[in-house]
Amino acid sequence: MATGIPQRNEYNKSIMGQIKVLDQNMVNMIAAGEVIERPASVVKELMENSIDAGATKITVSIEDGGRKLISVGDNGCGMDAEDLARAFESHTTSKIRTTEDLRAISTLGFRGEALASIASVAQVRAISRAKDSLTANCVEIDCGDKGSISPCSADYGTTIQIRDLFYRLPARRKFLRTANTEMGHIVEQFTRIGLANNKLDLMLTHNGRELYRLSGSESLRQRIAELFSSEISENLVEAESDEKQMHIFALLGTPGASRTSNVFQYLFLNGRFIRDKFISHAIKEAYRGSLEPDRFPVIFLFIQLPYEDYDVNVHPTKIEVRFYNANLIHSQILGCLREKLLGTDLQTAARLPATTGQSAGVREGAARSQKIADAMAEFFKKHKPIKEQQIAYSVERIENLNDKRSTPDSKFLQIHDSFIIEQTDDGFVIVDQHALHERILYEDLSRRISAGKLESQRLLIPESFEVTDAQLDALRTNANLIELLGIELVPFGPKTMAIQAFPTLLARAASVDFVRDLTDLLTDKAGELDPERLLDEVLNLAACKAAIKAGQKLSNSEIVQLLADRQRTECASRCPHGRPTTIKFSISELEKQFKRT
Ligand code: ADP
Ligand code: MG
Repeated sequence: MATGIPQRNEYNKSIMGQIKVLDQNMVNMIAAGEVIERPASVVKELMENSIDAGATKITVSIEDGGRKLISVGDNGCGMDAEDLARAFESHTTSKIRTTEDLRAISTLGFRGEALASIASVAQVRAISRAKDSLTANCVEIDCGDKGSISPCSADYGTTIQIRDLFYRLPARRKFLRTANTEMGHIVEQFTRIGLANNKLDLMLTHNGRELYRLSGSESLRQRIAELFSSEISENLVEAESDEKQMHIFALLGTPGASRTSNVFQYLFLNGRFIRDKFISHAIKEAYRGSLEPDRFPVIFLFIQLPYEDYDVNVHPTKIEVRFYNANLIHSQILGCLREKLLGTDLQTAARLPATTGQSAGVREGAARSQKIADAMAEFFKKHKPIKEQQIAYSVERIENLNDKRSTPDSKFLQIHDSFIIEQTDDGFVIVDQHALHERILYEDLSRRISAGKLESQRLLIPESFEVTDAQLDALRTNANLIELLGIELVPFGPKTMAIQAFPTLLARAASVDFVRDLTDLLTDKAGELDPERLLDEVLNLAACKAAIKAGQKLSNSEIVQLLADRQRTECASRCPHGRPTTIKFSISELEKQFKRT
């Protein structure tokens, strides 16, 4: 071939043929490629070693984003001279001895690779003093070149200093980012370890400046407030369960505090930060209907499980594990979180426009609140609020309600034929009439359908509609589901069907319209969704079609009914797609805005 590009087999000739054993330092450097990606990886490995050594206090000092110095000091069990010499050789560990031990790993480390890897790509100085020892010992290693052990003076515990990471590997050093970016990664590792070990005193400094000083006596929530913000910490609800040898403790963010990615999802398995697609899926499912599909909740999830029930030896940095019974993990987590979320009032608190020093992050919410405030001002110019006792409503309905928020002196009004404003004990709420009614119908439909077929009404004149062969097929395959909905279809000529009966609950929807959409949905999705999901989609569609629309004027009795239904409906604060139905405004917030406090 007449080309200047050397072909693959030409290269191969020059490098194949003679197999050599790599020297130990090369082995360590290759291992370092896997385990030590950047300064943050060093911080993680060293802090984990300190925790395994039983430390109650760990101090991390960084210079220049970890490029110049990473130092981790602890008050753990320490090492004697012999262990200190051995710790930096490859495959040396005190944590496992037999293959049996591999089956139930209770320590964070066990591969015996981290210190050897780190010492092969940097200048290292380690000082350690064992618990019962009179002196400390010190050793220095320069890119795998180990000096001799010498006695020195130091406190109990271990301090390991890493200087000039990758200094003999310009290609890898080039990949390090700015000090700020590297520091961001370090803070993330520090945060994960800090959350998993909230009984430890932890400190992190950068270029001599203290970034975090966390005390082991503070609560987990306090720690979250310090590592993130008090706003995040205050808006968490707790869920806990202890079943089937699995303990789950979760701090769940409210839907209003959701994010656009899963970076605020912290999962810990027996004190180890992990990422896991089954667990992430369970979280997503638990929030289904409470969150829009492209949002992610803030969550701190702590799982305790017998060590024998999973394998940590599947990933070099151990960020992934393999569960032996992933389905059980999934269902336990889903059950625990879902139960809590369903039983909690997750109303969105309104964010009112700040009058001064408004930050970019709240602007969007502020614009929305401003629109609502404008709409209200407009309305108040034209109307006077109606007192509920002035209007007639069906008394039997209200008598059934024992909720105190529906007392006769509650006040409400409809604005723009789309929103309802209702006074509450500590302020007022604005309700999106369509979204709320959609949720109410959805819950009603789900409840009734789980008890059997929906009640239906015969149509005086059957309504017909045309179908394609594929649609006809889909209708036949899903005949049971259609019957369950209380819809009766009969053939009505070639490629035409007629609706003979239609569910009473969906009376507001135009029957042909709904059945056409239902047919489309069954044709498109029936094959790919499991029956439970399909039913859920169908109920969503039904609720949306039959719900009161935006722009629809409601009579007072309809409003009373809607607000009363809200009180008895689960998850009333979100529509089935996860959008809020209700935004609440507190008097104290209003007073603040009007500078009354
Ligand atoms: P691993 O953690 O997988 O055992 P490492 O290379 O990280 O492997 O550490 C090797 C060994 O050095 C550990 O098993 C432990 O005995 C010892 N060691 C490392 N760091 C410390 C420390 N901070 N305090 C006491 N012993 C330590
Ligand atoms: Mg280790």
